[in-house]
Amino acid sequence: MKCRTQKQSQSIPEELRYTFKDFNLEFPDDDSCLEHVKEERWPNGVARCSKCKQDRKHHRVSGRTAYACGYCGTHIYPLAGTIFEKSSTSLRTWFYAMYLMGSTRCGISAKQIQRETGVTYKTAWRMFKQIRQLLSEDDLRLEGPTVEMDETYMGGVRKYGTGRPMRGDKKKTPVAAIVERKGRIVAKAVPDVKGSTLLGMIHDHVTPDSTIYTDELNAYHGIRSMKRSDGLTSAGYRHRTINHSSKVYVRGNVHTNTIEGFWSLLKRGINGVYHSVSPKYLQGYLDEYSFRYNHRDEGNLIFKSILARVSELAN
Ligand SMILES: [Zn+2]
Repeated sequence: MKCRTQKQSQSIPEELRYTFKDFNLEFPDDDSCLEHVKEERWPNGVARCSKCKQDRKHHRVSGRTAYACGYCGTHIYPLAGTIFEKSSTSLRTWFYAMYLMGSTRCGISAKQIQRETGVTYKTAWRMFKQIRQLLSEDDLRLEGPTVEMDETYMGGVRKYGTGRPMRGDKKKTPVAAIVERKGRIVAKAVPDVKGSTLLGMIHDHVTPDSTIYTDELNAYHGIRSMKRSDGLTSAGYRHRTINHSSKVYVRGNVHTNTIEGFWSLLKRGINGVYHSVSPKYLQGYLDEYSFRYNHRDEGNLIFKSILARVSELAN
């Protein structure tokens, strides 16, 4: 199935639209991008001056990525500690890569940004990798009282056009995901689906007292062993299984469709756009898809949320 970016964008409410034209107007050049990063970190250019030991207004130093204290002239650098700091790629190209990443549902290939901006494939690929690193929401706590957990497998059998497996095939990587009723998701590439592994993920991301639903139709060995060892219950969680007879009824309550929709989007994207992803980089892709998923109500303005991560994570 193809990614329907075009159609999707038409259904975005007006106030959440942010077109390429809007992007060009707001960020016509590197200077406007730099100004944006500066404003995100230090609104109105007011920052603590290391020399004055006071909050001072800072002004742009022309020809440099620096702003100077209005009183003593000491410089501050908005790009310091960000993913842009050591990059020789134009700031606007970075912004554009983020815009593209936020404007698609299925993902964006390094080839596309290479084609459109003229950076090398290697540079494009590295930019996307770094942007993905910004999108990890490792501290996300899902709010109960009901969450659903599911698992799937990514990668593995890569095929030639004929459907024949390629040589040097790697094993499939298990991915576990937990989704809350309101629909935020946490997805992790996991070494295995043992009870202890899944329980660790639940501990990290689910509030105790929550009820965790799993689908008994799939292979929940891990969940079952958690239950057997009573790990879940003693940690303060309740576990319920969605079975055949109650499935239709329960579905409405626990958003089985949400997590399944996420899997299909992820697989469509990775198979269609990225073709194959090695286990080493899989988490980055999961972070990218989860971030878009968790910010899906923002329309195209998700670009601004991606951008905000740059300064949030700057040290
Ligand atoms: Zn100063």
